[in-house]
Amino acid sequence: MNQLIAANWKMNGSLESNRALLTALAQGLGAKPQADVAVCIPAPYWAQFRALSEQLDGLHHVALGAQDVSAHASGAYTGELAASMLRDWGCRYVIVGHSERRQYHGETDELVAQKVSQALACGITPIVCVGETLAQREAGQTFDVVRRQLAAVVHAVGPCTSEMVLAYEPVWAIGTGKTATAEQAQEVHAVLRAQLKAATEQFRRVRILYGGSMNAANATDLLAQPDVDGGLVGGASLKAADFLSIIGASRR
Ligand code: PGA
Repeated sequence: MNQLIAANWKMNGSLESNRALLTALAQGLGAKPQADVAVCIPAPYWAQFRALSEQLDGLHHVALGAQDVSAHASGAYTGELAASMLRDWGCRYVIVGHSERRQYHGETDELVAQKVSQALACGITPIVCVGETLAQREAGQTFDVVRRQLAAVVHAVGPCTSEMVLAYEPVWAIGTGKTATAEQAQEVHAVLRAQLKAATEQFRRVRILYGGSMNAANATDLLAQPDVDGGLVGGASLKAADFLSIIGASRR
């Protein structure tokens, strides 16, 4: 299976800057990128992405993704976006349980698991984020934390998932410029891989992405690790040249 390089634009962008970024991306990708590529962009710009996809050939290789989804199917949840709405707009992926949502919006393991279930029920592939804080790493709790976060999702979706992506994002590495070393990433990815394999046969195909200050300089090392199946890229995805370099660094 191809590696997956997914952009997480977070709360960045404007009609003008998106056009420039997506145009440069489409031009740089060429006929067939060597990795699967996705851009998880703010919801108000999904329409712009779709319109540009009609005009720019290179964008046909780029899947659209969302950054969050409601834990509910529909109803009185002001401000929330249902998985069915994401599907209506052609979202192929949705990031779920990002550490910024866990930290600033109080998302629990259980809520994250409900969101994953909603996404899967609508045929959208969740990119489930797990990762430890610096304090947890220093206390030797890294494996316990990521195992607990993954277990909540596995428990909720059981074997009935068609597709899921996991992203290991150490919280101390996100947006800080401090990347996990390739060895640190591989070590945790191997633990997650073992947990997935033990859970159900179907999870053998789950791709495990690394996220946290991935950039053009460190991507080759990280993406060469046997259990690193791609990257979830924040800051570096906002510059077309950097994001294209990371895609170029992916393992075939
Ligand atoms: P970063 O963000 O690459 O800017 O560290 C990654 C993420 O939060 O998904």
